[in-house]
Amino acid sequence: MSTKPSRRPETTRDQWSERAAALAIRSQLFIDGRFEPAASGRTFDCVSPIDGRVLTAVAAGEAEDVDRAVKAARAAFEAGVWSNMAPAQRKKVLQRFAQLVREHADELALLETLDVGKPIRFSRSVDMVQVEEAIAWNAEAIDKIYDEVAPTGAKSLALVRREPVGVVGAVVPWNFPLLMAAWKFAPALATGNSLVLKPAEQSPLSALRVAELASEAGVPPGVFNVVTGFGETAGKALGLHPDVDVLAFTGSTQVGKHFLNYSAQSNMKQVWLECGGKSPNIVFDDAYDMDAAVKAAAMGIFFNQGQVCNAGSRLLVHSAIKEEFVEKLVAFSERLRPADPLDPAAILGAMASAEQMRRVLDYIEIGNSEGARLATGGGTAEPVAGGSFVQPTIFDGVAPDMRIAQEEIFGPVLSVISFDSEEEAIGIANASMYGLAAAVWTRDLNRALRLGQRLKSGLVWVNCYDAGDMSVPFGGVKQSGFGRDRSLHALDKYTQLKTVWISLR
Ligand code: NAP
Ligand code: MG
Repeated sequence: MSTKPSRRPETTRDQWSERAAALAIRSQLFIDGRFEPAASGRTFDCVSPIDGRVLTAVAAGEAEDVDRAVKAARAAFEAGVWSNMAPAQRKKVLQRFAQLVREHADELALLETLDVGKPIRFSRSVDMVQVEEAIAWNAEAIDKIYDEVAPTGAKSLALVRREPVGVVGAVVPWNFPLLMAAWKFAPALATGNSLVLKPAEQSPLSALRVAELASEAGVPPGVFNVVTGFGETAGKALGLHPDVDVLAFTGSTQVGKHFLNYSAQSNMKQVWLECGGKSPNIVFDDAYDMDAAVKAAAMGIFFNQGQVCNAGSRLLVHSAIKEEFVEKLVAFSERLRPADPLDPAAILGAMASAEQMRRVLDYIEIGNSEGARLATGGGTAEPVAGGSFVQPTIFDGVAPDMRIAQEEIFGPVLSVISFDSEEEAIGIANASMYGLAAAVWTRDLNRALRLGQRLKSGLVWVNCYDAGDMSVPFGGVKQSGFGRDRSLHALDKYTQLKTVWISLR
């Protein structure tokens, strides 16, 4: 006999609103274990895209603040309070941190939803669940990894040790603000580094709160710092700082390239880049389950309002099934209406900012002017007055070289391209500057494996879209970047190998 766990009654929209009104929002820099204003005293408005309301004024950190944070990080690192702590001990602190994230998941989810407009159901069930997993997983891993003794013979003992790199700078985007940060701070902290995190100007709130929770869990002062502010000031200062050893970035390809320059202009710090994508989702006429493929194609682009680096923004469909497939896809998508993100039933929320909404609307204009056929959507929605909402939008009859098929729109806009043969599909899929993810829908195992080999991307899904967990690496090839988040491979970014050769006599 099985007993079903009793489910908590769902928090209603009104209850979320009440909680939102009562939230204590952190808005200062978190440096050396304390909240403090920017040295300049400057702040910037943190606006909710749900209704255009100013949530708070957040400290606008600049070079001087970044320098203060890096100094605190360096001092903590050299003092060894964290870097020399036994891994089993660090594990316990990080487990407590994961536990605190679990206990504060509603609060963190609410901060995220207010800040970037994503539906509360997803900030709670996707973002915060995965943030906690990222911390717990890295905590668990860290006392199970052994260093090496090299096979150098009887006359010597050669140790190959994995050491923390020192001070890690992390610069992250606004689409999954805390999750993208956690994919960096969790492995960086687990391996004993100190860290300075710069969240995006559109989404500073959850990072400030989570750093406070880390401190409450026992992460020593100076080990986990957060400098809020603008990319061109705070982000650049971190990229150029001579005492940052590693810079881990997630964001656009354009800004990722700046970080390579910053490194070259300063101290040759290691740079790891997780950048943009234009991922192909390829449906063959022998797919097992067309309805599942339709649903996955829709959610593959519309989840998080299309603001997903690995969004399936190019749908490649075999010409034999294209008409029927697009018909079903349009019918499914028209049932997805942008709604108030605080409504627990909402599946689509607001764009992260009014600026992003305008950018997406510009691309819809471009699609129309390039001669693609607008099959559904194409405009704004207003479930909440003053908010930034865009309808799920599908362009059919897209040619592979159109701008809407080549450029990352980062919004709920799908480009449908048809193909006649496997070879043609591979050619279209690979004709992109990006190479983050791809998916293939087919019942032919040989074809699935062939495409698994020939598609130039860091991830290939077969008969699913956007599946994965902490055990598998995440990251791209070509101008989608290099280096991997998640899995034990992520630890390579935050550790370096040291050889200690002992001559025996
Ligand atoms: P973005 O404009 O590149 O910004 C990312 C971060 O870089 C932000 O913190 C930003 O700060 C900072 N930044 C901007 N200009 C800078 C500069 N000149 N110097 C130093 N730092 C600078 O990206 P976004 O618009 O926030 O996010 C969307 C992009 O992220 C998309 O391209 C998406 O594909 C990518 N992404 C990739 C992955 C992946 O794993 N591959 C995951 C998620 C998102 P401010 O915002 O404060 O200016
Ligand atoms: Mg930005």
